[in-house]
Amino acid sequence: MALMTHAHNQAQANYYDMGTADQERFDEMMELADVRAENSVFLALMVAAAQIAGLRINYTQEIRRCACSCWCPVIFDPHGPDAHCIETDEYNLGRHQCPRCADDHRETA
Ligand SMILES: [Zn+2]
Ligand SMILES: [Zn+2]
Repeated sequence: MALMTHAHNQAQANYYDMGTADQERFDEMMELADVRAENSVFLALMVAAAQIAGLRINYTQEIRRCACSCWCPVIFDPHGPDAHCIETDEYNLGRHQCPRCADDHRETA
């Protein structure tokens, strides 16, 4: 993918733009989402976590913090066209790379 022809207009946030109290709230929501089997609860926690990070998503949308080994702080939509799924697991969250990481140094499980 040499040319960046796709538009990067998707909502993203930076984990470190949050204060430490909000980072803790965000982590808690994501951890809760990770262990919730019930889909409606999972989706509500996604909305809550996104709000804390300053992102406005609709119910049924999801967010992830980039799981890249470069310790990327980007919070993004894992179903976006340029996001990359490193691996899914039988639980909810799996590991995803943000569009920039997927482009720069794509990882596979
Ligand atoms: Zn990233
Ligand atoms: Zn990366």
